[in-house]
Amino acid sequence: MIKKLIHRIFRRGTRPSPVHSHASSGPKRIAKKAHRIDPHLLSKNAVKVTHTLQQAGYQAYIVGGAVRDLALGIGPKDFDVATNATPDQVQKLFRKSRLIGRRFQIVHVTFFGKERPEIIEVSTFRALLENAGDHVADSGRILRDNVWGTQVEDATRRDFTINAMYYDPATETVLDYHGGMADMQQRTLRMIGDPAKRYREDPVRMLRAIRFAAKTGFTLAPETRAPIATLAKLIHDVPAARLFDEILKLLMSGYSWKAIQGLREAGLHHGVLPLLDRALDPPAGIAGGDAFIRLALGNTDERIQNGKGVSAGFLFATLLWPDLLHNWQKHLASGMANVPALHAAMDDTIGNQNKGMMIQRRFEADMREIWAMQPRFDKRIGRFPHRMLELPRFRAGYDFMLLRCATGERPASLGQWWTDFIEADLAGREQLLTAVKDEVVRTGSSGPAAKRRRRRKPKTAGGPTAGGLDAE
Ligand code: ATP
Ligand code: MG
Repeated sequence: MIKKLIHRIFRRGTRPSPVHSHASSGPKRIAKKAHRIDPHLLSKNAVKVTHTLQQAGYQAYIVGGAVRDLALGIGPKDFDVATNATPDQVQKLFRKSRLIGRRFQIVHVTFFGKERPEIIEVSTFRALLENAGDHVADSGRILRDNVWGTQVEDATRRDFTINAMYYDPATETVLDYHGGMADMQQRTLRMIGDPAKRYREDPVRMLRAIRFAAKTGFTLAPETRAPIATLAKLIHDVPAARLFDEILKLLMSGYSWKAIQGLREAGLHHGVLPLLDRALDPPAGIAGGDAFIRLALGNTDERIQNGKGVSAGFLFATLLWPDLLHNWQKHLASGMANVPALHAAMDDTIGNQNKGMMIQRRFEADMREIWAMQPRFDKRIGRFPHRMLELPRFRAGYDFMLLRCATGERPASLGQWWTDFIEADLAGREQLLTAVKDEVVRTGSSGPAAKRRRRRKPKTAGGPTAGGLDAE
């Protein structure tokens, strides 16, 4: 009778038990007809892992974001498994497994199939912080996290209720400790426990809140959202590499534009991440800075939603472009030539950014290459365009230039010219080069004279790269 009543309340989407309860009454068991998870969306390898662990006498479940996505009817991009087996015990069961992480040890089990290898992350149930003693810093931030616990504890330590559900592929049952399924139905993102305390333990959770809200379209519960405004500054305490990973996840979520708006609304971007600061509030005088980023992130989101890859270097290059333009103009105004001014500006922009969130070296190299290529697109003369096509990162540089054309920073005709040039055969390419020469003669819009004029009057030249056969 009581069960029926709870079921009815649950189906109406009303929370059946207090949010902050420590789930002392045990988890809700949700059967297939209620959760409607389609087993076809499961990774066979994840099922193999839970099966092997269960056969060896351990508990094992698919957990976290995968269950959330499955319940939303979305195929998860990766699968995590939680178990009561310790990392050593897990490793003994899987030949191709590796222990990774220090702060948060997990085992990666790798499967090599016809397509790219799949890694299933297996983590051992974590104990509650109260039982983790000296693993917590004075500020409340978790330093190490390798004290094993029970499933109840493990569930309570997860971030959001919708991320704390456990799915057993063998019985097709979901174990739900914190009302995650009810929150799913109400499209609510709710932090487990006391949100302020949870953000202090790990400030990255604030960024995760914004990212998941953007990705799922769910609303943050008021008490989950409220503390973010005052705690935003704690992001400074997060080690740079981890912050970088999280921002990258946010940008690569397929909902980056929405997520960045979310950061702005939550007051999370200001003075916290210089890159986003500059991206969202482009320096005065840079027309269309916001438009540029909006377009770039829109493109990125579309590519990711269509299952295409995106380079992180390209993405950061776009986010920092308004700032770079600003610095480029500054150096031109001081009398520097176009290309040296660009390189000086790159140093400024990257140096400034790295004071906040360090961009990893390998991405920095990509960014510099993409930026350095930009003035060369104006140099449509002789062998230069042919040589451009041979550059290994040409495609990225070209895509970047197209964005600049789309926002009106460069003329649309320049983008079209390059598109034609790429597609043309050799004869066609020569014709295109001749056409540029003719245009220059007709309009007198470029050439060395223009360069001299621009150097004397940098601010009126219409942007650093305006009209330049002479760009190098
Ligand atoms: P996605 O993989 O789609 O980005 P996810 O929810 O799977 O989302 P992961 O970073 O893969 O995110 O983490 C897996 C699970 O681990 C989460 O669902 C959550 O239960 C838990 N988790 C991850 N990071 C934290 C954190 N900072 N605090 C508490 N729990 C976390
Ligand atoms: Mg995940």
